[in-house]
Amino acid sequence: MTASMAIGVVAALGLAIGSFLNVCIYRLPRGESIVTPPSRCPGCGQGLRWFDNVPVLGWLLIGGRCRHCRTAVSPMYPIVESVTTLLFLLQLWQVGWQPLLAIRLLFVSAMIVLFVIDLQHRILPNAITLPGIVVGLVACLFFEPGWRSALIGVAAGGGVLWVVGEAYFRLRGEEGMGFGDVKMLAMIGAFLGWQLMLVTLLTASLTGSIIGGAMIAVDRGNMKYALPLGSFLAVGAVVATHVGYPLLEWYLGFY
Ligand SMILES: [Zn+2]
Repeated sequence: MTASMAIGVVAALGLAIGSFLNVCIYRLPRGESIVTPPSRCPGCGQGLRWFDNVPVLGWLLIGGRCRHCRTAVSPMYPIVESVTTLLFLLQLWQVGWQPLLAIRLLFVSAMIVLFVIDLQHRILPNAITLPGIVVGLVACLFFEPGWRSALIGVAAGGGVLWVVGEAYFRLRGEEGMGFGDVKMLAMIGAFLGWQLMLVTLLTASLTGSIIGGAMIAVDRGNMKYALPLGSFLAVGAVVATHVGYPLLEWYLGFY
């Protein structure tokens, strides 16, 4: 496998899987099957023709509108396909053409779906996080960072957020975060081990407080925002797969 062949294969895979992730993003929160029926326009119910389903290009060709009822088709579709392709290529660059790449592509795909669903619906479906914990643990029997780190990652990742959530609930008498976040961080620990899970949590908290603080400052504290913690965790986890260990040293330098 030459480098250019590997890039071509992973890019094509990114476009195809990105297209499938759009289906998951749309249907999972609505409780619909991700296998059947074939894609339809949400406006008029007209079935899509095969060339409408061509990643990115299909959306550009129809000018971002259904060709029958002119309902706007969300630019989220081509964005998800492009981002999936970009993140897949970055993983190839990071880990190279080896079996671990398949695990990483699966993980990145799950992070993309959770990012968008949490952003749009403020939920993190169990259909992804629970099987994710199992798959991540099994993968770590064979790949880095090994099953010990993964097992500690699940326990610590799930445990830390659960304790924070409980404490917030006791202090404020309201739910500060859903248990979806707990299961998602446990899944991240299962795939990446406890070290990178920690980096993910710190990165997500840091970016979350900066963005949350900016929003409150702009709104002068009039509104209470439920920030999509899962979306921040997804970004933090993908960042951690690339620069996790240098970041960990940098964070530890503060203490
Ligand atoms: Zn339509």
